[in-house]
Amino acid sequence: MSKTAIPSVFPAEGVFEFSTIHVDLSSATPGARVHYTLDGSEPTMDSPVYIRAEGLLPLRGEHGADIRHTLRAFAEADGREPSPVVTFAYRFCCPANGAYRHQLLREPTADAAGLIRIEDFDLDKMYLLVGTERALLIDAGWDETGDLPGLCRELSGGLPVDLAVAHGHPDHIGQVKAFLEAGSTVYLPHADREAIASFGLDVPVERTLDIVDGISLSLGNTVLRVYGVPGHTPGEVVLLDEGTGDLFSSDAFGSNRRYVPDTAWLQLSECSLESSLQGLERFLKATKGTLRRIFTGHNDEILDAEAYLAALQTALRRAVERGEDALVPSLRSAAESFGSGSAAIEGDWRIDPIWAGANLRFLREADRLAVPPRYARGFNPRIRTEL
Ligand SMILES: [Zn+2]
Repeated sequence: MSKTAIPSVFPAEGVFEFSTIHVDLSSATPGARVHYTLDGSEPTMDSPVYIRAEGLLPLRGEHGADIRHTLRAFAEADGREPSPVVTFAYRFCCPANGAYRHQLLREPTADAAGLIRIEDFDLDKMYLLVGTERALLIDAGWDETGDLPGLCRELSGGLPVDLAVAHGHPDHIGQVKAFLEAGSTVYLPHADREAIASFGLDVPVERTLDIVDGISLSLGNTVLRVYGVPGHTPGEVVLLDEGTGDLFSSDAFGSNRRYVPDTAWLQLSECSLESSLQGLERFLKATKGTLRRIFTGHNDEILDAEAYLAALQTALRRAVERGEDALVPSLRSAAESFGSGSAAIEGDWRIDPIWAGANLRFLREADRLAVPPRYARGFNPRIRTEL
């Protein structure tokens, strides 16, 4: 009797800094079932079967701690001998709170601002632009501890540092208060006031300036143009440096990390898929020919702007036009996708550098307005998880 191929994984075992990674388990034998354990014990036919359609397996670390997970698995298929058991060791060494790390992506020149990427304990990405007259930090991470305003001041050589928060989610507003206390001008979309309140966050929105579509922020030699792109939150904005073609998109267009597979989380608020698609298409039209790279709020890689947004547009458009038939099981389980078990995805998260997609709650505006609302198949309205 022939053997079943041993299971393999994505991503490969190793050491990670993310607080969560999502693991895919698979055997090269068609139709094989993969049984696994996560506690180091020997898997048997009674061990759980990995079902991709129910979401990838989340493995978690802990900030400031050294955590290890042992995944053991074997595959079996009809008419074949079961495979041997294979073991995969995942180790998490996640950064501790209060510390920020930074890397200089571009030195300042006469006509372009310097660009420094800063990450917090959660590896949330912030971007410090150092102009000739002012510096601007885009987004403020999740960490409320540590002195990010002080670090930005030092990184920009003592220039006044403003803060622009692109949307009001907890992993982007951690240091808002610290910047206000340091005397910085803070821009924040006031349309996200309710989103901020819904997370029970104490952010003094009234002490910030509203950031909306059409305004520009000048740093001297560099001007950032603000575009409103509602969808992820009602007030979400993106900032474009028209001189370099650099687009700072926070979560507006999602991120396409591989190990923590993210799509665009478009319907956390009640924005319909159609309005999100229209917002994206309006933005593409308004910026045609000027976009070069995208710096998202969570990606490690910097994305080719046109290719990535075209992939996202394709996924959303297909969902609007073809409905359920265009959806596939979410990469993350319903519990990890705010209840949504289905997604519109373009490309393969493991092998396509430019894959994109969106987790959906409603397919169309009419579905959202129906009484009761008609959710996309696989959406569980009872499930609500932390961001
Ligand atoms: Zn967000």
